[in-house]
Amino acid sequence: MTDTIAAIATGATVSAIGIIRISGSNAISVASSIFRATNGICLTNADDRRMYYGEIIDNTSIDELSSPPQHNTIDFCLCMVSRAPSSYTGEDTVEFHCHGSPIVLSEVMRILFSHGVRQALPGEFTKRAFLNGRMDLVQAEAVIDIIESETVAAAQNAAGQLHGVISLKMDSVYNKLTDILAHFHAVIDYPDEDIDEFNIQNYLSSLYSITNELQEMLETHQRSKVLRDGVPTAIVGRPNTGKSSLLNALLGYDRAIVTEIAGTTRDTIEEKVLIGNVLLRLIDTAGLRKTNDKVENLGITRSLEAINTAGLVLLVLDGSEPLHKEDIDALHSIPSEIPKIAIINKSDLPSTLDINKIAELNVEFCTVSALLGEGIHSLSEKIKEIFPEFNSSPSGELITNARQAEAISKALSSIRSASSALADTVTPDAVLADIEVALNAIGEVTGKTMREDIIFRIFERFCVGK
Ligand code: GDP
Repeated sequence: MTDTIAAIATGATVSAIGIIRISGSNAISVASSIFRATNGICLTNADDRRMYYGEIIDNTSIDELSSPPQHNTIDFCLCMVSRAPSSYTGEDTVEFHCHGSPIVLSEVMRILFSHGVRQALPGEFTKRAFLNGRMDLVQAEAVIDIIESETVAAAQNAAGQLHGVISLKMDSVYNKLTDILAHFHAVIDYPDEDIDEFNIQNYLSSLYSITNELQEMLETHQRSKVLRDGVPTAIVGRPNTGKSSLLNALLGYDRAIVTEIAGTTRDTIEEKVLIGNVLLRLIDTAGLRKTNDKVENLGITRSLEAINTAGLVLLVLDGSEPLHKEDIDALHSIPSEIPKIAIINKSDLPSTLDINKIAELNVEFCTVSALLGEGIHSLSEKIKEIFPEFNSSPSGELITNARQAEAISKALSSIRSASSALADTVTPDAVLADIEVALNAIGEVTGKTMREDIIFRIFERFCVGK
């Protein structure tokens, strides 16, 4: 017996359709008491995963005086039953596809509550799916990643993970480690039995292949984090070169304060923008210049931090002025491995800046007028060329989740230490201890060996109704 939960699974605004999900032992009986299918069928006899048209009635306010007693119809909707164990949660579930009126939906919820159903907590449907073995933790996290995806590539990757791409790999590593562990336990229990050389070589090669596999997965994490979170992009340059104006031109609307007073953007402003399929996290920084103003200096320190942690730096230059020493200093302050574009702004004004000097600095550049929006298209094209991964179609192989990456990295270092212990023919219990740590870490990725409180924390990040 599980308690029965319900939630509005769709958005809180007026829309064409609004879906209410119910899950738990009483889901079907409660739903059948408030739904009348037009074809007369009772939901308890309804076919699984088939839509029935009918009306939702408010049986909490029956007019007993009329004969027969009158119920109020709340909405005409479609209803679908999905029985345990093949439903999303692994429990009996019902979905009402109502008209998307917040009033209608909250009224249906009120009627459900009056029948003993309770409001679902954030992520509770998916948590139940996990606890009932319908999906592992990687797949559950993929669900939230799909919902929150901001790029096509991130959505495709999450879909692959929901399909089980990572889970399959993790299960195979888990099984290989369990095999080795079982053998070492036998050796410890029966100390007279030596591990023969042939077996040691077999185990070593198995551990090496696991190491390679995990290493490859971890390498995808560094590259692919940006697919999910966007490329941190620092917009830097001297005050008044047009950094905030460029941010606004890229965003297509006025977000940053643009004024003629040098040093207006004293703190950093962050906004996300999609350039084609490339997701940028634009960070408008305080202008870089020498100043005695303490607050401004704090902003400048943040600008320098933003440069060092950026995945892309857009250095804005004022094309209506000659190149300043501070422009060149700013360019040199960008670490060489970080992609950068010098943006010669204010192309609508007479040009004073010597483009040959920029070319000599060996940096990609483009000319724009942030004010008029000119040249923004060719800047966008350059950005797309720098980040081709956003146009790839990953199928789940990219580890974008920091928790999973951390657990894989923990497993990797224990497997490495088990391999060297094995190669050095250290006592079996040393190898055993390392492999056990690795096994535990791999189990954490899929949720096999995860602590309950941490699992609950993960599901709290979900939205209500998922
Ligand atoms: P920031 O201090 O670098 O962020 O510079 P702002 O974006 O605040 O711009 C400083 C001044 O330059 C403002 O008066 C802007 O209107 C002006 N400005 C920015 N971009 C352009 C441009 O493309 N053309 C012209 N003519 N003025 C611009």
